[in-house]
Amino acid sequence: EKRVAVIGGGLAGCECALALARAGVFVRLFEMRPDKNTPAHTGGDLAELVCSNSLRSDELTTAIGCLKLEMRELDSLVMRAADATRIPAGKALAVDRDAFARFVTSAIEAEPGIELVRAEVQSLDAPELVGFDAVVLAAGPLTSDALARSLARETDAEGGQRLYFYDAIAPIVSRESVNLDIAFWGSRYRPEEDDYLNCPMTEEQYDAFLAALLAAEKVAPHGFEEHIHFEGCLPVEEMAERGRLTLCFGPLKPVGLPNPRTGEEAFAVVQLRAENADKTAFNLVGFQTKLKYPEQSRVFRLIPGLENAEFLRLGSIHRNTYVDAPAVLDAELALKSRPGVHLAGQITGVEGYLESAACGLWVGIALGEKLKRGAWPASPPVTSALGALLNHLRATPPKRFQPSNAHFGLMPELGRRAGKKIRKELYGQRARESFAAWLAEHGRA
Ligand code: FAD
Repeated sequence: EKRVAVIGGGLAGCECALALARAGVFVRLFEMRPDKNTPAHTGGDLAELVCSNSLRSDELTTAIGCLKLEMRELDSLVMRAADATRIPAGKALAVDRDAFARFVTSAIEAEPGIELVRAEVQSLDAPELVGFDAVVLAAGPLTSDALARSLARETDAEGGQRLYFYDAIAPIVSRESVNLDIAFWGSRYRPEEDDYLNCPMTEEQYDAFLAALLAAEKVAPHGFEEHIHFEGCLPVEEMAERGRLTLCFGPLKPVGLPNPRTGEEAFAVVQLRAENADKTAFNLVGFQTKLKYPEQSRVFRLIPGLENAEFLRLGSIHRNTYVDAPAVLDAELALKSRPGVHLAGQITGVEGYLESAACGLWVGIALGEKLKRGAWPASPPVTSALGALLNHLRATPPKRFQPSNAHFGLMPELGRRAGKKIRKELYGQRARESFAAWLAEHGRA
């Protein structure tokens, strides 16, 4: 009998444990709560949703809707729990938080192939991890300090920081929604390059934008986040507070970016950097922010060229333990330096409840298959929501790696132009078809 130790009974750990148990693998699942809590969890149940009770849109014209469908096809425990504890919330899938966590806890406790151990694992070299065929580390964005230190020793061994303790995420817009009559291509001093799109601002536009930015509503930090030192990634609104021209000398510096339409440098320039090889998605350089989501859409659309921007992802800054996945993980999401130790969930650099659960589900299914048949199976195609998310962990150039939730910008280009609404339908349809084909081919239909 094969044996796997899973660290962390959160969304990823529970999915992973159950998928392994279904494959006939014995699982010892370590969860440190309730004896030792994280700064955000409050109870002792597994798979606690620490903040919102929404699992976001159910619609198949969104990447998260597609991800739900794919998870249901793979018999996801989290999706079963969500469907069983759903509460009305329009087009979103919201759940009764306590009932949800109880459902998952009962399912894990009822599974004879899983032994739930309520204890903190403090190190990758801990004696309780000896004697297993593999280890899955799914300890989440608030991994306990001792284990995080142990992981950092492992990932940072070759020099440089590869384990991070918070995210500073800038919003991403779809290229199709940028007004190219205003924005122009070119890197600083290299007008021929097409890695950046630039949105020029007049002094008047800049001042109006600045006023809106300063007046916008911000998210209050969680108590345990107040002391995060935002060295090197100050929120854009905080930088703006330092003085009228601070942004002009920072991320909105116009130097070396003459507008080809006038031949002159603008008063300020917002740069958009390509997020993917197909250049379908661009992030707003330097725009990590704590503005509330609706405020971000409103204020950032004041940037010339972004008046009709479609935001594929909005910005945020929060506590988050995650690794530089493309640099330290292999194709099996195992540490390159320790092939038997796989990572799953938010710690890999996926972002969000369902993304974390989906990642755990995949690691459970794939590891189960590897332990039974000797080979890690082919991932779902990159045109599917799960495949695109896994690809993000592998294929993002390491220097740029940032956690991501599921969005269509992670998928390859459609290869045809279409309006926003049709584009979303086409992305959704392609995701469904390619995932169904993968399922059929790999005997999971
Ligand atoms: P978790 O669900 O956190 O599970 C990890 C588990 O490991 C926990 O139960 C923890 O107790 C346990 N653990 C940690 N260290 C050890 C150890 N050494 N030994 C044993 N057990 C250990 N996502 C959203 O989609 N919507 C939101 O509104 C949202 N809000 C968030 C708010 C906060 C404050 C944070 C930190 C995150 C938020 N997220 C949100 C992200 C969300 O937490 C994750 O997406 C999701 O819970 C991650 O799943 P996971 O399984 O990777 O980690």
